[in-house]
Amino acid sequence: MLKAVYEEGWGTGRPVTYSRSLTFVLTHDCPWHCGYCGFRADQEGLLSERKLESLLQEAVEGGAREALLISGERPDSLPHIRKELGERGFTDFWEFANHVADRCAGAGLFPHGNFGRMTEAELQRLRPHFVSMGMMLESVQDHPGLAPEKKSSGRIAGIEAAGRAKIPFTCGILIGWGESQSSRLDSLARLAELHACHGHLQEILIQRYIPNRGSRWPVGPVPTLEEYREMVQRWRGWAPGVAVQIPPNLEPRWPELLPWLDDLGGISWANDEVNPTKPWDTVEGYAGLCRRGGREMEERLPVYESHRSAEWLTEFWLKKAEEFSAEVTA
Ligand code: SF4
Repeated sequence: MLKAVYEEGWGTGRPVTYSRSLTFVLTHDCPWHCGYCGFRADQEGLLSERKLESLLQEAVEGGAREALLISGERPDSLPHIRKELGERGFTDFWEFANHVADRCAGAGLFPHGNFGRMTEAELQRLRPHFVSMGMMLESVQDHPGLAPEKKSSGRIAGIEAAGRAKIPFTCGILIGWGESQSSRLDSLARLAELHACHGHLQEILIQRYIPNRGSRWPVGPVPTLEEYREMVQRWRGWAPGVAVQIPPNLEPRWPELLPWLDDLGGISWANDEVNPTKPWDTVEGYAGLCRRGGREMEERLPVYESHRSAEWLTEFWLKKAEEFSAEVTA
């Protein structure tokens, strides 16, 4: 059955989704020094109110729907961040994150948060303020060159906590950093098990590692197209209905993967803040290539249709998502 689906091409006739997005970096500051990281900083401090204002204006003028809020891992473990939070009247980083999310919501944006590993209580605090959240598993394989916060046991616990907190969640694996195909499949299988328990995964990323300024990690072998196909095929069998996203700015062979992918992820006119060496093409540019592959592109929200119910969203976010659907079908 699955073989037949893939011979026909999974995606034939189905739209490829994407989210029009702008990233709000709450801080690059992070206590850790992962070998592959090109994101972290030491003494940047928090996103200022002035910069927040200008990002909100840019997002609205650029037609973004999604505000992707990101940060280093547990920035308020750093004394200078705790000091700044106190000076600006916030009890902790999560209160600051909720403040930024509320400003985004007030501007008509849908905030999606990715702040690394969090506890269930922390996730519950953020849930009313964010329409969805995410964190990459990256791999079930641990590596000494990564932060303790990146250990797979902790990240799996964080993904489970998000499931218990009923948060529509985005996860994924990192590829091309020295892992084997069997480890990629093990990581996907673990994500599928977590989804089977909680039902909270709405999409998974298969994301290529790209060295950026500051990265010290060598690039490993990237999957062949056949290996990509095997990953997607297994995933569909393990977690049917959970979308597969391949970020097109990080994988130049994405048009060849078009028959198997569902989603291109967040696309922005601005920098990819995590991979600044890999800017996106325009939505129109991607749409043209999709069309050549027999598929149209369709905008989506950071929360998928699969998770638009009272089980997963607060009344506020359900109403906002319904307004979006009414607008795009009008
Ligand atoms: S990958 Fe994340 S945890 Fe590691 S140094 Fe970068 S920001 Fe910090």
